[in-house]
Amino acid sequence: MIDLPTHEVYAIRYATQPQRPEGSTFLGGDPKKMVRGLDFFTYVIKGPEGTFIVDTGFNADLSGDGGRNFLCEPSEVMNKFGIDPKTVKKVLLTHAHFDHVGNLDHYPQAEFAIHVEEMNSITGPDITYTPFRVAYHKRDTKKLVDLLYEERLSFFTETVNKVAPGIEFHLVGGHSRGQMILRIHTKRGWIVLASDAVHLYEEVETERPFSIFHDLQKMIAGYRTSLQLAGGINRLISGHDPKVTDWYPAISNEFEGQVLDLNIHPQMN
Ligand SMILES: [Zn+2]
Repeated sequence: MIDLPTHEVYAIRYATQPQRPEGSTFLGGDPKKMVRGLDFFTYVIKGPEGTFIVDTGFNADLSGDGGRNFLCEPSEVMNKFGIDPKTVKKVLLTHAHFDHVGNLDHYPQAEFAIHVEEMNSITGPDITYTPFRVAYHKRDTKKLVDLLYEERLSFFTETVNKVAPGIEFHLVGGHSRGQMILRIHTKRGWIVLASDAVHLYEEVETERPFSIFHDLQKMIAGYRTSLQLAGGINRLISGHDPKVTDWYPAISNEFEGQVLDLNIHPQMN
């Protein structure tokens, strides 16, 4: 058996929405009932194959919309812990919703990669359907097209894509047509960055559907795939659950609530 390399994985919590209506969170939820909201993350993977950034967060000028508070510029936080965003070579995009593909110009040397299903979705007939358009931003899509013409955007085309030894990118769809999840080999074994395939742990625990989706059946199947690939909730990093911030420690006091260490087992409570 070949020894797989291990990678370090960190979550940067760049924004938070303390509360939101249940109807905006779960399919069939009460629009008048407020429930715990969402946290927003960008991720850094460091390893023998170099540094990968996963998703780039929403643009700061969208702060305040829907009660979302922008806490910090992800690229500035990276700089503080030793990663110069200006020299980052690779950015992986899990899908193209506005809170995952803003700030692309903060990585001027980077090549970006997304699934071809997602690019086809945001530049084709899917966008004529209002419910599919709701979480995309025209500015981001235009920027992705610019990157394509600059030969800085490439596409994953398979269901299971090898990014590097110990890093796999799986297409699950559902929430968006090209929604992907990352499986990464770390010192504690494989973990899964589920991104918006799993916004909240409740989705995998009870198969309660999130309110925004492209394909409901695929989204629920994606809950199962995410959990199966992770091998347990303690190895599954949901894309927006504030429990991630509760469960994983900061890398140091200076980065409390801001840079989370995903390489150690979570303190789940
Ligand atoms: Zn999201």
